[in-house]
Amino acid sequence: MGEQVGEQVDALRRELCEYGRRAAALGLVIGTSGNLSARDGDLVVVTPSGVALDRLRPEDCPVVGLDGRVVRGERKPSSETPMHLALYRETGARAVVHTHSVFATVVASTMTELPPIHYNALLLGGAVRVAPYATYGTPELARNVIAAIEGRQAALMANHGAVTIGGGDEGGLEQAFEATRLLEWLCEVYVRALGVGRPTVLTEDQLTAVIERALQG
Ligand code: 13P
Ligand code: ZN
Repeated sequence: MGEQVGEQVDALRRELCEYGRRAAALGLVIGTSGNLSARDGDLVVVTPSGVALDRLRPEDCPVVGLDGRVVRGERKPSSETPMHLALYRETGARAVVHTHSVFATVVASTMTELPPIHYNALLLGGAVRVAPYATYGTPELARNVIAAIEGRQAALMANHGAVTIGGGDEGGLEQAFEATRLLEWLCEVYVRALGVGRPTVLTEDQLTAVIERALQG
């Protein structure tokens, strides 16, 4: 491994700690629930299993290859590493954020998708699908998430939580983290709207009009 790769990986380890703390501070994760990762070429830096995300130190974060072998670090990689790696293999993701945030988990435990009642859902690709339930950390859960996230930046995981991805050359973790915050906001709006009445779901035409409007700048 060259010097430069090492430096980049160390920078990502520090970023994981920063976003772990931010996720905990915003109440998106509690205790050891949730995990984050970021990709640098053929390497993935992931949070360790069973460590509270607000207490992470950079050296705690294992570095794994896309096949899951640990190439650096003493700690066990997150139990959801198979899901993170599947997302890197199957999508253009450069970062992945998984949480058990409250409103995302409420929606994921009660419905099969989050309908677009606000146009900001388009920032995640539209209606967010709920991946069918499978035990945490299993290849089956990874497969279900890959199917659910197709064409989207986010998926919900039945009776479990949320997962978002960030792409692009820069700001992978920033993007994935902001997608997690937006998804939680959309889920909260939906759940609260259900408590008030019957939320109106935006039609395909209305969503297309938003995309056209956005393209005008
Ligand atoms: P880890 O501590 O192994 O990352 O597990 C937390 C989790 O959210 C499992 O789905
Ligand atoms: Zn989880």
